[in-house]
Amino acid sequence: MADFSLDHFIDGAFHPSLSGRRFDDPEPARGRVLASVARGAADDVDRAVQAAQEAGRGWALTPVAERSRWLSRIADGIEARFEEFAAAEARDTGKPLSLCRAVDIPRAVANFRFFAGAVLHDELGCHPMEGALNYTLRRPVGVFGLISPWNLPIYLLSWKVAPALATGNTVVCKPSEVTPLSAGLLADVVREIGLPPGVFNLVHGFGPEAGQRLVEHPDVPGISFTGGTATGKIVGATASAQFKKLSLELGGKNASIVFADCDLEATIEGVARAGFANQGQICLCGSRVLVERPLLERFTEGLAAWARARVIGDPLDPATTFGSLVSLAHRDKVEGYVALAKEEGGRIVAGGRRPEDPALGEGAFFEPTVVADLPPGCRTATEEIFGPVITVHPFDTEEEAVALANAVRYGLAGSVWTQNLGRAHRVAANVESGMIWVNCWLLRDLRVPFGGMKDSGVGREGGRHSLDFYSELRNVCVKL
Ligand code: NAP
Repeated sequence: MADFSLDHFIDGAFHPSLSGRRFDDPEPARGRVLASVARGAADDVDRAVQAAQEAGRGWALTPVAERSRWLSRIADGIEARFEEFAAAEARDTGKPLSLCRAVDIPRAVANFRFFAGAVLHDELGCHPMEGALNYTLRRPVGVFGLISPWNLPIYLLSWKVAPALATGNTVVCKPSEVTPLSAGLLADVVREIGLPPGVFNLVHGFGPEAGQRLVEHPDVPGISFTGGTATGKIVGATASAQFKKLSLELGGKNASIVFADCDLEATIEGVARAGFANQGQICLCGSRVLVERPLLERFTEGLAAWARARVIGDPLDPATTFGSLVSLAHRDKVEGYVALAKEEGGRIVAGGRRPEDPALGEGAFFEPTVVADLPPGCRTATEEIFGPVITVHPFDTEEEAVALANAVRYGLAGSVWTQNLGRAHRVAANVESGMIWVNCWLLRDLRVPFGGMKDSGVGREGGRHSLDFYSELRNVCVKL
């Protein structure tokens, strides 16, 4: 018997699937069923889109200050149920409860508060010219389809919902079928506060069924998708054929570049966190560590010692610093990559296996793993594993470090660790990635552009970039 039962949220109320079908959502750390979830299909999506369309006109005409107040109320509603959200996210994903309390849930609250403020302080252009005046209007796009992944479920879904609603769109969300729980709670907050029906809708289900229908629906003119590059290609092809507004936030294989003059202790801590935060399941994780040769052995050992010191355990145990992976299937994929690393000549310096603690039972646990001696162009070092596996590679010159960092198909993020200011700026400018941190990682200001280059995505979100993406900007030219 599942602990939770989740239904779709359409037109202000919860509904089972029209087909009556359901699926089981497992709890990865315990290997048991956590929730029974309505399995949405095209007819459920159509119903949600219709509700969103019908609510659209009223919501678009709602004054900005009022929309902003609704966003603040959603933030308050999440905060009022903070512990419930944190426990649900920890159980559904396997990540430590401490991480949900420190990062996932506060960030969901912050996303709603940030866009509640941003939309009030919005400034639009005015371009006077000889004999005429241009000014810019911001208008909603319409119904937005919001598709999110399993690694940061409520953190990433709220990053889409908040700016979409703030700018006057209505939404149909399709969270990952692997982690639907916190999206269900968000829908319950929306119901509790009495947001006008149809403004926020949620359809659970599988990507190729519910997700695909949302992307191809002719009455959904905007799609914001976060997920893997292979899925992004399918979503991109479908949405582009109908000229939809489209944002694709995709995969990464990010480099952490460590120079011999770095602050050693702080850099080991920073690079290890960049590699292993959320069990290595963050698109921004630095899974390729490039180290200037004189520091290679000391640095690799430092990373390995950090990895061995993690306390692997039940996500709800306050002592746990390293939880389970998101599913048994994903753990098997990660394990497969470690086997590949060995075949490709890698030396496992730390981890590399399932922990032997019988208390962990059938959970999807895997030790944080450091691999050395791999050629930088091999599959383990260039394909996205999206788990707790980092590979370490030496370099001799700044130019070589940049070339290695750029020698992958991805271009999402990276970090540079050095005390040399000039070099930090040069490397930051030359690494092909949407974001790069110097002597830090994942320090986020919600105003800055967020997004990837190359196979890591199309478009930027964050601050005014989000406001622009979720709007149609229209120019009016008045002859004087
Ligand atoms: P995924 O398999 O691509 O799934 C992402 C979402 O798309 C899920 O909701 C999925 O539903 C849905 N989906 C699958 N097929 C679809 C289709 N044909 N049409 C419409 N929707 C479809 O990714 P994931 O495994 O959940 O997440 C891990 C990936 O996300 C990694 O590659 C990671 O780097 C990337 N990511 C990127 C960012 C970023 O900001 N750049 C942030 C976080 C994660 P189902 O769950 O039902 O399959």
